Amino acid sequence: MAGERYVYRFGAGASSDHVSRELLGNKGSGLVEMTRLSMPVPPGFVISTQACRHYMESGLPAQLETEIHEALRWLEKAMGRDFDDAANPLLVSVRSGAAVSMPGMMDTILNVGLTQSNLAGFAQQGRTMTVALDSYRRLIQMFGSVVLGVPRSTFKEAMDHAHPGHDEADGAQLSDSSLQTLVEDFRAVVLRSTGGPFPDNAREQLRLAVQAVFASWNNERAVYYRSLNGISAHLGTAVVVQAMVMGNSGAESGTGVGFTRDPSLGTRKLFGEFLANAQGEDIVAGTRTPSPLSSLERTMPEVFAELTSTVELLERHYRDVQDFEFTVENRKLFLLQTRSAKRSATAAVRIAVDMANEGLISRKEAVARIAPASVSEILAPQLDFASGTPNPIATGIAASAGAAVGRIVLSSQEAVHAAASPHAEPVILVTGETTADDIHGMAAAAGLLTAHGGATSHAAVVARGMGKCCITGATALTIDLARRTVSAGDVVLRAGDWLSLDGSTGRVFPGKLPLRPAADRNEALETLLQWAEELSAFDVRANADTPQDALRARAMQARGIGLCRTEHMFFAPARLPHMQAMILASNLADRIVALDKLLPIQQRDFEDLFRAMAPYPVTIRLLDPPLHEFLPALSEAEARLSTARRTEEYDAVHHLSAVCERIKSLTEANPMMGHRGCRLSISYPEILEMQVKAILQAALHIAAEGYETVPEIMVPLVAGPEEMSWIRQQIEAAAEQVFAAAGHSILYRIGTMIELPRAAVCAGSLAPYVDFVSFGTNDLTQMTFGFSRDDSSGFLAHYLEKGILKSDPFITIDEAGVGSLIRMALAQIRAENPLIKAGICGEHGGDPASIEFFASLGIDYVSCSPMRIPTAQLAAAQCTLSGRYDDFELPASHLTGVASIQPTPA
Ligand code: PEP
Ligand code: MG
Repeated sequence: MAGERYVYRFGAGASSDHVSRELLGNKGSGLVEMTRLSMPVPPGFVISTQACRHYMESGLPAQLETEIHEALRWLEKAMGRDFDDAANPLLVSVRSGAAVSMPGMMDTILNVGLTQSNLAGFAQQGRTMTVALDSYRRLIQMFGSVVLGVPRSTFKEAMDHAHPGHDEADGAQLSDSSLQTLVEDFRAVVLRSTGGPFPDNAREQLRLAVQAVFASWNNERAVYYRSLNGISAHLGTAVVVQAMVMGNSGAESGTGVGFTRDPSLGTRKLFGEFLANAQGEDIVAGTRTPSPLSSLERTMPEVFAELTSTVELLERHYRDVQDFEFTVENRKLFLLQTRSAKRSATAAVRIAVDMANEGLISRKEAVARIAPASVSEILAPQLDFASGTPNPIATGIAASAGAAVGRIVLSSQEAVHAAASPHAEPVILVTGETTADDIHGMAAAAGLLTAHGGATSHAAVVARGMGKCCITGATALTIDLARRTVSAGDVVLRAGDWLSLDGSTGRVFPGKLPLRPAADRNEALETLLQWAEELSAFDVRANADTPQDALRARAMQARGIGLCRTEHMFFAPARLPHMQAMILASNLADRIVALDKLLPIQQRDFEDLFRAMAPYPVTIRLLDPPLHEFLPALSEAEARLSTARRTEEYDAVHHLSAVCERIKSLTEANPMMGHRGCRLSISYPEILEMQVKAILQAALHIAAEGYETVPEIMVPLVAGPEEMSWIRQQIEAAAEQVFAAAGHSILYRIGTMIELPRAAVCAGSLAPYVDFVSFGTNDLTQMTFGFSRDDSSGFLAHYLEKGILKSDPFITIDEAGVGSLIRMALAQIRAENPLIKAGICGEHGGDPASIEFFASLGIDYVSCSPMRIPTAQLAAAQCTLSGRYDDFELPASHLTGVASIQPTPA
């Protein structure tokens, strides 16, 4: 586009205008902002993402060359150095920087502008020839691999051949003559690999480097990272061209990266690493193990003090934790980058809460900042040391919290291969260091362990972003790829052996340690959830069957139980025989005897549940599954029967024959569409009667203890009003018996699940018989699609793969079909009686995308498993904050009306 500007300058008095992050990328916009804050930043210019988009569509924009040329002239003047001046050359870095952070995914080239002919001139800028030669060989290496496509390994081989035992980052420790030879070797590598000489022309280097950075937007790992993180391929990257400062200028120089708060735990403490006499790539690549940032406080206290105050200012300015990069050249500090830090979910929550308490952000912002799905990671598993702590074979840097147990694999390919196998077991990727190319393997592994690198090396940053346990810099480990072993001292493990990682302490254990779910409580998370709950226009309840689950849910601010599946209570070994006796009873009298045994047990369960959740409502569903689920499988019963016959145990033979007959009579071709749900209440009203009595007697009992409770009795799998009306009468009759015996009544509610398409379509006609409805979206999805919720995962995978379905409808609600049924049902019910409360109790109640949809329908609550409550709570608050909640208002005629929910008179 004519007149469009592609190049933006910063530093040396140039950047005064504000330009968007979208245009300048994260890095570019951070640099512009830092110069506006008068921070020490080497000057440079940013080539915008717009230029990259132009490049991807139709090549470089025509005017770009002129703009770069002019910006370079300006930079040369600002630095008092010249790209073409062999006696006093200008060197620049050329770095990628998209608007969204993609750590290590795209390319960077340092020392651009260095040539054979200006090496001496560069050395004379107050540096040594060693620094000049080391910088030049680094340029050939980086430029060679990134721009000219020479395999990185070829340089490494050349280095290993010439200087066995020397690491790539150790070049500055070689003698000048060795470095000179290395330069020659590297130049020969380029010539051999590309057929042409290394370009010894500064302007040519810059032109090619800029193009290579643009092209790196579409390299394989960047494309994969974007698909993993849902980042649009259209954004493009900016290119930052910046005057070089040399961290490899000796002991009083170096490079560092850091965070204004601990990105793993969130503690308010400067956190990071420093590598003396090194350039930026060395620290990120993890080839040398850096020292903690605090070491700088001892070696260069004035630099440390300036760094601390500068990054604190940055954090206040951005009102968020910053991830910064800096270089020290001869005791002078330069900031090279600042951006919003990637952090673990644990850290994100702690930081958001702390910042709100510090007054840096509001509570609303704190709640809005946390991705709902990410908080499940806070409750990630940990190693269980209950039966003792074995000796670790190594201890590295606790780079990303959580724990992982898996079999050792030694390469990314092996990790990917292992994860794809049909009987996949978890694997731990163990390598010297990871590079950006390892992203597939990291995604496939349960945990990562590297022998080198630090808390900010590539592996650490990426693992933290993935919410994966990661230990870096476990220097005691020796990895022998030829023998396929990992050893530490005397301990030798082989690929395929089990390994356990403790990402919170950095300890590495041989073998398969037990994993235990994460701590139930996290103080910062609980505070955040409390704020979320206060901000949310609708409630989050728990699907909980036990008092323990109910208590856990309350700590997460659940406002009631939305679904107690009573059948779970019958599976306990002490109860199952009574349940089976009830099912096997051949007449009503025998069935009632068995039910009478179950009643006090059920009542105690409910009492405990009501106490744990008081004063919030508890929704108890009447028995739902087909009865055969409580009996053994036919094959098992028949095997036991034949044993009993063989051993001539006649009582057992008699009993097991009856069991087999009953199992056969209960066998259905389609049990999920069979004798279950409210159909059981219709066939066996005595089961309903026992459950209603247990619920109401429990409520009366705990009310007498002083607890408040509102039991809600919920009828499953209702298809229409005739069923519901009949069942309501049964419930009310049982309630009347209870209240008459007690001499007083209690408020309770009767409701239905809507989990059959027919119930949704006829929802208006159910309204006269219910005080509440709850959408059982699991069955509703099953029945609407006709996809079995138990058997469809196999073919669903093909639907997803072929894009026929965008997401698994059992995970994220199908808005077009199932969602329309819910919308229609709600409209009908509200038209009949707007006081009827409506909730969601299928698995979708804990899925953020589905919650957003339910919020748009003005739902009263969502209910989900206790582990998913934090996610649901945050999603609910965020829907409210962003105005996506449809605040359903009662029609005026109902505002003075009487609720349908009345205590049943005694
Ligand atoms: C449902 O069907 O959505 C539901 C909550 O019930 P269940 O999962 O127990 O069938
Ligand atoms: Mg159901």
